[in-house]
Amino acid sequence: MIHVDKNLCPHNHVCPLIKVCPVGAISQNQEGYPIVAHDLCIECGQCVANCPMKAMKNN
Ligand code: SF4
Repeated sequence: MIHVDKNLCPHNHVCPLIKVCPVGAISQNQEGYPIVAHDLCIECGQCVANCPMKAMKNN
């Protein structure tokens, strides 16, 4: 399952992965962390590959 590693995400900017995700599964919570809607996610790995902080993990 795709999730954010909160130790790596600085959660202080608009998450670029919101636009990267092809199915619109990523939103951002009030703290600034990306949230993955697992009912939408197809585990394509685009967010994992494109996060500039390498903060998205698939495990
Ligand atoms: S793995 Fe793909 S579908 Fe799932 S959240 Fe990341 S970019 Fe979106």
